[in-house]
Amino acid sequence: MPATSSVPCQPLMTGATPPESGGTPVTGGAAAARELVVPEPSLVLLVGASGSGKSTFARARFKPTEVVSSDFCRALVADDEDDQMATADAFEVLRVIVGKRLAAGRLTVVDATNVRSDARRGLVALAREHDVPSVAIVLDAPAEVCLARNAARPERGISERVVREQLDQLHGERSALSGEGFAAVHTLVGVAEIDAATVQRASLPSDLRSQPGPFDVIGDVHGCAAELAALLGRLGYRLARDGAGRLIGARHPDRRVVFVGDLVDRGPDVPGVLGLVMGMVEAGDAWCVRGNHDNRLARALRGRDVRRSHGLAESLDQLAAEPAEFRARVERFLDGLVSHYVLDGGRLVVAHAGLIERYQGRASRRVQAFCMFGHTTGETDEYGLPVRYPWARDYRGPAMVLYGHTPVPTPEWVNNTLCLDTGCVFGGWLTALRYPERELVAVPAARVYYQSAKPFPANRLAEPVAVAAREPTAPSAAPPEPSRPAVESTNQEDKR
Ligand code: GDP
Ligand code: MG
Repeated sequence: MPATSSVPCQPLMTGATPPESGGTPVTGGAAAARELVVPEPSLVLLVGASGSGKSTFARARFKPTEVVSSDFCRALVADDEDDQMATADAFEVLRVIVGKRLAAGRLTVVDATNVRSDARRGLVALAREHDVPSVAIVLDAPAEVCLARNAARPERGISERVVREQLDQLHGERSALSGEGFAAVHTLVGVAEIDAATVQRASLPSDLRSQPGPFDVIGDVHGCAAELAALLGRLGYRLARDGAGRLIGARHPDRRVVFVGDLVDRGPDVPGVLGLVMGMVEAGDAWCVRGNHDNRLARALRGRDVRRSHGLAESLDQLAAEPAEFRARVERFLDGLVSHYVLDGGRLVVAHAGLIERYQGRASRRVQAFCMFGHTTGETDEYGLPVRYPWARDYRGPAMVLYGHTPVPTPEWVNNTLCLDTGCVFGGWLTALRYPERELVAVPAARVYYQSAKPFPANRLAEPVAVAAREPTAPSAAPPEPSRPAVESTNQEDKR
């Protein structure tokens, strides 16, 4: 058997991999009791032959209602846990219960052998439908232990042949586990390690509900360092500089910043913006979500083949003039960006391109794609820009959603959502919303730094302070599903 391990697998997006799923780093060492990190919410699949100790393991580490066992579902439909004829019906019931729990965002543990790849895949797909990560916990107990335990409960009718088949399937297909879409696979080898292992629950990286604010949420910066410094000054932050006079941080006694992403590309001083924002994030003075431009730059810095279009060339050229340590820090920072944040007890959501209610606080590829690109329809307009479905028009969620991505001349409230990208790099304004006050604060761009593909009405004389509060608009009949490329593609290039 391979040595004991916990491995994160199947990055949710290849290239720059957002740490969305709460997967655990590689841990090892058979000596110490293993602490298995389980994201909450997630779907946990126990994997092991009959008698490997799955039900015992689950009982000791999870609430009874969190564990959905195939035996119990057999009993529900056939009055007999051991009625193997009832297996198909039992799994139908199991899937319904698991689906309902995941829809509600509840941690759910499936106590079934799960030794067959196709059985696992069906459950991983169910978790994905509900945009929660899946974790496998493999209980690899020795054959003689499993056989002896089953011999001690003959009423189960699990023969030695069946147990050996399960063990063969487990061992034969175990290498497949890492390619099945799990955020992490924890493998426990031997009875002692299974007994000693503990489960550590970890909230998803997007979960900042415990942060009450107040916040200043800042729109797309795109390398406009001077405007960012000016805006932070207007918001009451004290700027910090290094010996060379470069901005390395900003602090407010009571408030924190949340950036909506797209710090980079197109603008005149990408390293200046990154140095300031990284300093703020590292000091706990700010958070930043991942914009599509930040994602492309991260991929390019990792050596991936990314076209130097849409302002990426400017970022790469400017960063090339920086020391290697700075570039390495930038790469780490960009790789660590999270798709969105849920803040203030769930009352505030910040995502680069906005976020529908169903995806808030969830983690999956399509959630990441929506956060970066919005609800794209797969079509392009006369300027070659992606056509976007106006998700905000149908938004009815209780959380305020603040976002950027698509420059607007004037931020406009649409159903408790507000776009804060006022096109600074195109000669517009850099805008912040004070939360919970709902006050806009903006500074004008010093000049036009980049020509927008679509003419941007950069009305530099009109400060975007007047936020038109609109009545909720009528929802459209049937919003289309987000286009598959936005969901599946890891190479998606967005033109914004
Ligand atoms: P499952 O078939 O994988 O769900 O295994 P169970 O958790 O039902 O365990 C099978 C049998 O082994 C039960 O009778 C348990 O009481 C027993 N068992 C499970 N774990 C341990 C253990 O760590 N030590 C001992 N001695 N017995 C165990
Ligand atoms: Mg059991």
